[in-house]
Amino acid sequence: MFFFFIFGVSSKQEKLDFNQPAICRQCGRYGSYEVFMEYTYFSLFFIPLFKWNKKYFVRTSCCGSLYSIDAELGNRIARGETVTLTEEDLHLIRSGSYRHLKRCANCGYETYEDFQYCPKCANPLN
Ligand SMILES: [Zn+2]
Ligand SMILES: [Zn+2]
Repeated sequence: MFFFFIFGVSSKQEKLDFNQPAICRQCGRYGSYEVFMEYTYFSLFFIPLFKWNKKYFVRTSCCGSLYSIDAELGNRIARGETVTLTEEDLHLIRSGSYRHLKRCANCGYETYEDFQYCPKCANPLN
């Protein structure tokens, strides 16, 4: 008799039930914080058995700025506790790029990078 074990290690991102209105430090607009949990999990026969390496991220709804928050704080949000995020809790990973979007007038190429010239057609960007 043979047993076939189908197992795997994957990572997944889950949006937590959290929404806090806030004035964005990056773009100055009124938006809200959304919290995501990223984790690695081991599954057997497609059933996730355990999770580890949990990381928590905050994203602003206004401009998509990305922050990391401490796992301890993230765990409390994941448990459904009422948590108010303050600026000290947020560690900036990537500033929102909404207002930095450059669009090439010549070919329509859009980029968030700080290019002086369009990477596609070399037209100057402003
Ligand atoms: Zn913003
Ligand atoms: Zn172009």
